[in-house]
Amino acid sequence: MKADTKICNRCDQLLSYSSFYNQCNTKDKKSNYCKDCHKDYYRKRTERLKRDDPAKYLLVKSCYAAFERGKPTYNRDGYENIGCSFDNARSFLEALWNDEIFRNEWIAQTDIYVANNNIYKYRPTLDRINPELGYEEGNIRMLPQHINVSRGKVA
Ligand SMILES: [Zn+2]
Repeated sequence: MKADTKICNRCDQLLSYSSFYNQCNTKDKKSNYCKDCHKDYYRKRTERLKRDDPAKYLLVKSCYAAFERGKPTYNRDGYENIGCSFDNARSFLEALWNDEIFRNEWIAQTDIYVANNNIYKYRPTLDRINPELGYEEGNIRMLPQHINVSRGKVA
């Protein structure tokens, strides 16, 4: 095999290293799937989650959006200085999903949202209980979008 090439574990094509994303936990520091397969894999995984577990899917989207908003580099009007105390979006998601009361409220609201043909105002959203504080443990609850939006900023 030529130097700087690799066979994709999914499509079996021999491709140059530039066709693979960097990944720190593999021997050659490259992903085992080529970029196209990588994108396809995650797109399908997301579609599956959306179909099979809409509550989790919506929470994933909200957590990633909120985490982006919590970055110091994020400064869209009205969203400045909203901190996020979690290290990454994944740990933020897990903390909420493992909170049984939060999770049950989130699932119940998702059922209402789905039963109403995904009308946006019924979508479950992350509400900061004290709007002066950021996305941090103990300051987050579920509110349907139409109630949350009346209080200002929504994730
Ligand atoms: Zn591939």
